[in-house]
Amino acid sequence: MISISELKTLLATPQKIVITTHHKPDGDAMGSSLGLYAFLIQKGHHVSVITPTDYPDFLHWMPNNSDVIIYTEAEEKSVELVNQADLIFCCDFNTLSRINELGEHIRQAPGLKLMIDHHLEPEDFDDYRHWNINACAAAQLVYDFIVNELNEGELINKDVASCLYTGIMTDSGSFRFPSATSAVYRIAADLIDLGAEHWRIHQLVYDNASENRLRFLGHCLTNKLEILRDFNVAIITVSAEELKNYDIATGDTEGIVNYALSINGIKLAAFIIERTDKVKLSLRSTGDFPANEICKKYFAGGGHRNAAGGASDKNLADTIAEFKSILPEYKTQLLQ
Ligand code: 5GP
Ligand code: MN
Repeated sequence: MISISELKTLLATPQKIVITTHHKPDGDAMGSSLGLYAFLIQKGHHVSVITPTDYPDFLHWMPNNSDVIIYTEAEEKSVELVNQADLIFCCDFNTLSRINELGEHIRQAPGLKLMIDHHLEPEDFDDYRHWNINACAAAQLVYDFIVNELNEGELINKDVASCLYTGIMTDSGSFRFPSATSAVYRIAADLIDLGAEHWRIHQLVYDNASENRLRFLGHCLTNKLEILRDFNVAIITVSAEELKNYDIATGDTEGIVNYALSINGIKLAAFIIERTDKVKLSLRSTGDFPANEICKKYFAGGGHRNAAGGASDKNLADTIAEFKSILPEYKTQLLQ
């Protein structure tokens, strides 16, 4: 591990820097990465943001989005940048398996690895860690890193502020999760003062749906929602064929699971979707119910207590059956 003063010394002269984030980046993944990017480029570093996969259109408005390199679309260039990097920032993830093939390239790269993350159980691959599971977003930790670790809050310009605000807004469920503490509201207020247009960012992220997405949502709620009252569980399942019929793109399914959780009395909601290579599960829970425990134990995944994910190599029907068969084990907690 290196100390913050060693890191400060390194950052005092121009470095080759790669910033990367998790597979299928969300608002916090892109917000923390592009926020850090907009900060670092002001200091004269040569910086690249590399994402393992593509990400939803509703994040493409973000400052410096056109500079982002998508690994699956530019493998050779990505590997070259990773291998040449002096510093590799890993934002919003803490195990290299979360970034697919890119993970092994980063593990073997000679550069120093710097983790900025808020997930449980970090893997030991890093040389510097700014990690706090109580943070509502990795973007909150990027803010804290710039302001309190580097003492360079004066470099938070409108671009940095807009990106960090996006990460905090999306990962805190628009400031409604318990993780949105008064300290988070104060950071948000600071970011608004520094140029983040909160109303515009909200509109760009949440009021930017395609017609397909809305019709698909209607289909999910009318035809695909199953409520298991005996367990306080709601499930929405979607086949690959349905995704094709509605021409569903990356990001169009995001947030649908929350509708299932919004039903009175529901403690655990699952969105189970048949992707091309595997079946993916998104779980959301309320209160103390550990959605991440189910994902970790049964679906090779993890996440936060109230928002977690995993995957299965079984087919859709078998995955749904497996998920239902697990529920009796958690019945007491689900009915509390
Ligand atoms: P989502 O349901 O939006 O895909 O994921 C919710 C949260 O669960 C993510 O922020 C992430 O922390 C976690 N998560 C989702 N999929 C996986 C996975 O496959 N492995 C792990 N470890 N965490 C996941
Ligand atoms: Mn996050």
